[in-house]
Amino acid sequence: MRAARMHGYHRPLVLEDVREPEIGAEEVLLHVRAAGMCRTDVQLIDGYFRSYAEMTFPVTPGHEIAGEVHKIGSSVPRTIGLEEGDQVVLVGGWGDGTCRHCQQGDTQICAHGRWPGFGPYGGYAEFVPVPYRYLIKVDKRFNLKPEELAPLTDAGLTPYRGIKKLRDAGALGPNRVLGVMGVGGLGSYAVQYAKLLGAGATVVAFARSAEKLAVAKEFGADHVISTKGRSLDDVRKELNQATGRGEIDAVIDCAGAEEMIQLGFGLLAIGGHYSSVGLVGDRINLPLFPFVAREYTYHGSFWGNHNDLSEVISLAQQGRIRHSTKVIRFEDINENIDLIRMGDVVGRAVIKY
Ligand SMILES: [Zn+2]
Repeated sequence: MRAARMHGYHRPLVLEDVREPEIGAEEVLLHVRAAGMCRTDVQLIDGYFRSYAEMTFPVTPGHEIAGEVHKIGSSVPRTIGLEEGDQVVLVGGWGDGTCRHCQQGDTQICAHGRWPGFGPYGGYAEFVPVPYRYLIKVDKRFNLKPEELAPLTDAGLTPYRGIKKLRDAGALGPNRVLGVMGVGGLGSYAVQYAKLLGAGATVVAFARSAEKLAVAKEFGADHVISTKGRSLDDVRKELNQATGRGEIDAVIDCAGAEEMIQLGFGLLAIGGHYSSVGLVGDRINLPLFPFVAREYTYHGSFWGNHNDLSEVISLAQQGRIRHSTKVIRFEDINENIDLIRMGDVVGRAVIKY
């Protein structure tokens, strides 16, 4: 099979022909039809996670995967109804199945977890062995394309969970303003979920580029505000003109860049909630007093669990999610990694096999 693999940090991926993986009795061999390219893949290559997890090379990146069931292991229960040729998406965070988080369904935050795309197998190759519990079947009647489905397993999933946390915390409602920080791969979905789950909240998108703000507007943001070269006061004035208030009650931060974090907390109202899903920077540096005195709540939110993805797929099947994807060829992976590193891709780059 074709595979694009890391043989070390800070190097282009090696495009090579490798042997098709074997599967265990409880696994399914997934034929990858499309794989989304995530900023996280670039960070993996650039060594961003190096101090958190040591890698054994070669590593096959790619954790946003949609495909077809190719082969089914002998112990996979027939009751789950998977058959060869079924269209499926892959749930990314694989837990040990025994800890409290796994038992509650949050396998993606298991301390003993593993993730496709951060080890030997990933979506930058044509086949991936998958424990059967981590596949969700997508009904072919809905005619969803693999290049639309693949990004839903991370870019279209992570902000969904982050916004659910705001919703469940009571941070949203018709008299609230929800800010979406960053309109890249994740943010273009976040804007849509903000409208779908926002309980009537006014949705304001913040981004640096006019092109990305246009996507946010098209996907339903009530207001869009450019942050490029502008001070907190400038942004506050524009926010006030747009909404009648110079502050926001909740933030879904899809960027995670230092300046966006400063801006998001700078605009946060008393009793505000901040949900973090973006990872551009690597530190949060904030004054403590407002956290206490203004009763801020910070929500870390990581990827999504099986149930979150199942809900996202249901929305997609209902035709309620719009996609901003750029389909690319396997041969052009390295070129696109460079573009993502520069922040030059609007929407999601998706490899289609
Ligand atoms: Zn666990």
